[in-house]
Amino acid sequence: METPAPPMLGKERLRRKCAVFRRAPDSNHRIGLFIFEAMTLHDKFGRQITDLRISVTDRCNFRCVYCRSADPENYREHDEILSWPELDRLARIFLSLGIRKIRITGGEPLVREGVEEYIARLHALGVEDLSMTTNGHLLAERCERLIKAGLRRINISLDSLDPAKFGRITRTKSFNTVMNSIDAAQSSRLAPAKVNAVLVRGLNDDEVESFAEFARLRGVIMRFIEFMPLDADRHWNRGLVVPAAEVHARIHARWPLEQIPHERSETARKYRFADGAPGEIGLIAPVTQPFCGHCSRIRLTADRDLYPFRGRGQRRGPPH
Ligand code: SAM
Ligand code: SF4
Repeated sequence: METPAPPMLGKERLRRKCAVFRRAPDSNHRIGLFIFEAMTLHDKFGRQITDLRISVTDRCNFRCVYCRSADPENYREHDEILSWPELDRLARIFLSLGIRKIRITGGEPLVREGVEEYIARLHALGVEDLSMTTNGHLLAERCERLIKAGLRRINISLDSLDPAKFGRITRTKSFNTVMNSIDAAQSSRLAPAKVNAVLVRGLNDDEVESFAEFARLRGVIMRFIEFMPLDADRHWNRGLVVPAAEVHARIHARWPLEQIPHERSETARKYRFADGAPGEIGLIAPVTQPFCGHCSRIRLTADRDLYPFRGRGQRRGPPH
């Protein structure tokens, strides 16, 4: 099918160029973007891109069942992923094209050596909003260094409040370590931390109310993410998805929720507790209420691909 041409934006006459970054002349890895005369970045539907997610590694020290296979993986060789100098160069280019927010992710970003130094360089370049998504295993001891480098916000994954179930989901014994990381983040200037739980029917959907209570007790922003068909083991089916509407109804029945206004491009619908308790609830519904329409994000993978935000159309397998 033919790719639709980007629409004209307002009265501007937009002469577009297609920029392609190649690692080597014979490389298949390349990144195609539309750069308009106004020097901002748009996707093929004409939406301005302001947020960039950078996967700094494909490696991970966890094996979450909704994400990776239990089997040992064939990670990319180090020379197949973007080097720090390449990531520096790309960051400068993206910033010059109107990117204002950068989220560092993975794989697990904290397993790649040099991530603090990279964040410091992004900070020095003037990135307004620097954040990270992590599984929390290595966060507690690195929190202060990351903040010093310029990190301002953190998302920590936590898929169960029950240590044994956490172990089954992540295939690790890291429950206490991750809880310590949440505490460390909460007592730092990264507070309030966002805590991400991917809900899978029959696995952890019995914990919705417990997670909401956790938000109230700890003052964190508890975010429930619908399970997307990205798991390496291809176990996803629609019956395993816990719709955000169900999560809302269950929490609202116990502790009435009030919606917090959000920007159209935001992925989460946000709620506070009507009784004034601390903490917030975020609902992310890429399956039942896809948010692609107003999306302002792109995602750069460690192995040099550029995608629209996670969701339909993205390749399956370990996200990186
Ligand atoms: N390793 C880090 C972590 O787990 O937070 C960062 C990378 S991880 C790919 C980023 C986010 O994607 C996490 O919040 C994770 O729970 C979520 N995720 C992974 N696989 C998913 C899936 N199949 N459906 C929905 N969310 C998923
Ligand atoms: Fe690793 Fe994050 Fe995937 Fe879990 S969700 S396996 S921590 S990359």
